[in-house]
Amino acid sequence: MKCPVCGSMDNKVIDSRPTENSAIRRRRECNSCKNRFTTYEMVEMTPLFVIKKDGSREVFDKRKIMTGLIKSCYKQNVKNEDLDALVDDIEAELLNNLRSDVSTREIGEMVMVRLQKLDEVSYVRFASVYREFKDIDTFLHAINQLRSKN
Ligand SMILES: [Zn+2]
Repeated sequence: MKCPVCGSMDNKVIDSRPTENSAIRRRRECNSCKNRFTTYEMVEMTPLFVIKKDGSREVFDKRKIMTGLIKSCYKQNVKNEDLDALVDDIEAELLNNLRSDVSTREIGEMVMVRLQKLDEVSYVRFASVYREFKDIDTFLHAINQLRSKN
């Protein structure tokens, strides 16, 4: 468990108690910077399924989002840690919603909202694959939308 302040992995549990939703709440203290933070430990839920365009289902795998992102960000000045954070953020949002399935389209939209803030070129590349731009007009439309937001 990593300290959110200094990133140290060295910490001790100072208090543990159960919560209402069958999770264990642990109060931890970082041995490096003495920061105190709380973690929740819970039994793994039923896996989250991704519904693909053809209607088939597969277990959610955040590495697949990462693969798409890495392609879109090729040679762009985007930090790996920012991409990691983006993917973790999406995963956390999906898990917190306690849903049993999500469509690839929804995931794509979640990626785009975040990627747009990170890097516009990568965003347009990602969107062109995800929204399946079929001609130059759709492409220009996306770019104009981006421009009008700035
Ligand atoms: Zn610390």
